Amino acid sequence: MLSKPHAIFADALASDFAIGAFNTSNMELTQGIIRAADRQKSPVIVQTSEGAIEYAGLQVLSSIIKTLAGQASVPVIMHLDHGKSLDTAKRCIEAGYTSVMIDQSTLPFEQNIKNTKEVVEYAHARGVWVEAELGAIIGNEGVKDLHGGQTPDSFLTDPEQAKQFVESTGVDALAVSVGTIHGAFSGQEYIRFELLHEIQSILPQVPLVLHGASGLSSDNLTQACKTHVCKVNVDTELRIGFERAVKAYFDNAHDSYDPRKILGPGRDAVEAIVAEKITLFGSAGTAGIY
Ligand SMILES: [Zn+2]
Repeated sequence: MLSKPHAIFADALASDFAIGAFNTSNMELTQGIIRAADRQKSPVIVQTSEGAIEYAGLQVLSSIIKTLAGQASVPVIMHLDHGKSLDTAKRCIEAGYTSVMIDQSTLPFEQNIKNTKEVVEYAHARGVWVEAELGAIIGNEGVKDLHGGQTPDSFLTDPEQAKQFVESTGVDALAVSVGTIHGAFSGQEYIRFELLHEIQSILPQVPLVLHGASGLSSDNLTQACKTHVCKVNVDTELRIGFERAVKAYFDNAHDSYDPRKILGPGRDAVEAIVAEKITLFGSAGTAGIY
């Protein structure tokens, strides 16, 4: 069922697990994600970027998610990933999203606060959850290397600033930069646990969000999910899995031009990856407790 995030995040915060947030842009990805969550009896976040909304159309994409959420036996949160403007956030809220992210992290601190606060006021008046970001999480989908001597350390979240940011904006969850990079990165990433613990001790009630986790080892990730990290975004790995499965179809002798036979393996691959992530994040079996 389509669900609000509030009780689920409260539980994740108290019980030391994280909820997977998986990106979709079409029917197959959405089915793969929700089928895996159903199988694992786990709450799940299905999220769409602005690019995905542009690709599929907001009404089409949100209708697919809502329909599949309605058929699921587990809670499904519909979330906007990296909303860059109040306008996008508003349109998503009107389309039935139960959660939005406003990302103004590239703007100066005061401006980030002002814009985020505006979205928080609009969203909260409608019962919608808001995630924001502080300390830019660098990179983008497909990034391979950092340039100009940049390392994740150049962009880490400052704990004192995080406290000020949360208090001034009233956001519900905070995406923090603690060592991860968006996209497929060729170097090894690792979580700065000391910094993560500092942030969570300064903001004990705020669920934290991890973006760009695809470069982390499974151990690192599992350990992070036992902290106040309550949401982990997964996008790149789903794309890679989908692409590989479709490519394998073409690489093998095939005798069909049926789109269902081409895309079906992609959907199955996504389902397998999501199921595995849910186990890593520790949320399997927690769907029945709300
Ligand atoms: Zn992100």
